[in-house]
Amino acid sequence: AFLARIDELEPTIHAFLHIDAEGALATAREVDAARAAGETLGSLAGVPIAIKDIVVTKGMPTTAASKMLENWVPPYDATITERIRAARMPILGKTNLDEFAMGSSTEYSAFGPTRNPWDTARIPGGSGGGSAAAVAARMAPLAIGTDTGGSIRQPGAVTGTVGAKPTYGGTSRYGLVAFSSSLDTPGPVARTMLDAALLHEIIAGHDPRDSTSIPQAVPPVVAAVEQGLTGDLSGLRLGLVTEFEVGEGAEPGVIAAYRDGVETLAKLGADIVEVSCPHFQYALPAYYLIAPSECSSNLARFDGVRYGLRVGDNGERSLEEVMASTREAGFGAEVKRRIILGTYALSSGYVDEYYGQAQKVRTLITRDFEAAFGRVDALISPTTPFVAFEFGARTGDPYLMYLADLYTIPSNLYGGPAVSVPVGLSDGLPAGLQVMAPTMRDDVAYRVAAALE
Ligand code: GLN
Repeated sequence: AFLARIDELEPTIHAFLHIDAEGALATAREVDAARAAGETLGSLAGVPIAIKDIVVTKGMPTTAASKMLENWVPPYDATITERIRAARMPILGKTNLDEFAMGSSTEYSAFGPTRNPWDTARIPGGSGGGSAAAVAARMAPLAIGTDTGGSIRQPGAVTGTVGAKPTYGGTSRYGLVAFSSSLDTPGPVARTMLDAALLHEIIAGHDPRDSTSIPQAVPPVVAAVEQGLTGDLSGLRLGLVTEFEVGEGAEPGVIAAYRDGVETLAKLGADIVEVSCPHFQYALPAYYLIAPSECSSNLARFDGVRYGLRVGDNGERSLEEVMASTREAGFGAEVKRRIILGTYALSSGYVDEYYGQAQKVRTLITRDFEAAFGRVDALISPTTPFVAFEFGARTGDPYLMYLADLYTIPSNLYGGPAVSVPVGLSDGLPAGLQVMAPTMRDDVAYRVAAALE
């Protein structure tokens, strides 16, 4: 059924970079046979899934939406992919994204943008626009995203789907094409909080192959959703971030939907208070120094030698010449912008002034979160300042694009879990409400968000 839906809608939506109908059907048949043989199967066995094309999949192309990896077929699986296969979930294919997950609209994919199923003249968010659009258009019941600065939650908000960023280190980074290693966090994209929680419990958990993976037990998010769905939030204290409340630039319709959500949370028994997080206003500039710095280091591996694209190697040109022409042809404009920014921020003479300062701001933001969580169980905000915008509306000025991440980035810098859940419409387009919780309290975020469904 999902493959038929893909056949019907993919020409318009372009959520996928690769579709593996045969592989998906083969897994589905295996599950049918296992079920017929009376085998005990996991909760999501046989449930199809789409995977963001920045997570490596053995034998299936992984491009990160870059010409640099256009014909690359990984020889191994990411830990997440392994766990999805072990859960016997048919993999429908790989979804579109902004090149190397850098962007907020999927317009920076080297293979053309994805369209928002709500209005095909509009963006599906980014970087994980393909995963969100696939779920929103019912081409896949579940998908995997990666959230470095909001790329699971913001596409979720603007496509009316659920997007959950787990605690950093709660899900393995092994086998993600690295963007910003201190921030990259894979997680679920789904229709409902329960679906997201079921997938979360499959992909989360310690991985010795990821040096920043957390060795503690996975928070019980499925049980938390069941608790949230009872609609009783009494005993929970939720904080509204003062600085976000007065923040400029948010669309009135988005704020109205968010306020309705807050009212519902209060009616369900939550105690709502205001909490000041004075350093959140510096999150965006700090992120746009830290993420490009790490990206400039991570993307140095694309040198035209080891794997991926190689341009201009005629047997006579120097290594440096081949490297330069490969990078010139292989990277898109936004990726080049980040590499240049990051290289500059890390360069001798500037590193203290830019990268060092950004790291200090990161610490201050973490302290804001810690102080807030001394008073409240979770923080609430809109997920994004605006609904899905039209193609081209923000590509002319990088800063306008970066503003999409205003509310999502603080929790990335801190490392705690954050979930976006649909909270209504603004001018007929979906808006999201974000719940941010303390590190390794993913269950709290899931519980609160589920109560809103
Ligand atoms: N918009 C953010 C960026 O461009 C999102 C990154 C992400 O979460 N992958 O960096």
